[in-house]
Amino acid sequence: MKPQARPMFDARSVPGDLCPIATVPNPMRPGDWRSMRPVVDRQKCVKCAVCWLYCPVQCIVEKPAWFDIGYATCKGCGICAQECPQRAISMIPEAAA
Ligand code: SF4
Ligand code: SF4
Repeated sequence: MKPQARPMFDARSVPGDLCPIATVPNPMRPGDWRSMRPVVDRQKCVKCAVCWLYCPVQCIVEKPAWFDIGYATCKGCGICAQECPQRAISMIPEAAA
């Protein structure tokens, strides 16, 4: 007789007050709380991909002639602006965007 397959994890078996983070995913994304926003100057960008290499959340998006920012997941850390050799990325206050 074949042993019955058991699920690796059953959320119903976890007490609701044990660890809410583990049982209820947080729907908030970095773009919801970012305070500074990177903006790419398309005239300066040479598509070297340095920003793509350094972005810690991999939200740099390749466009036909430049690299752009995926604002849904960008957390506004400014590393891309620091590392861009062309100084093509500016950080502006999110409220001003
Ligand atoms: S690092 Fe600067 S120049 Fe290079 S792809 Fe990114 S924005 Fe463009
Ligand atoms: S600000 Fe930070 S998270 Fe946003 S694109 Fe630049 S490196 Fe990535």
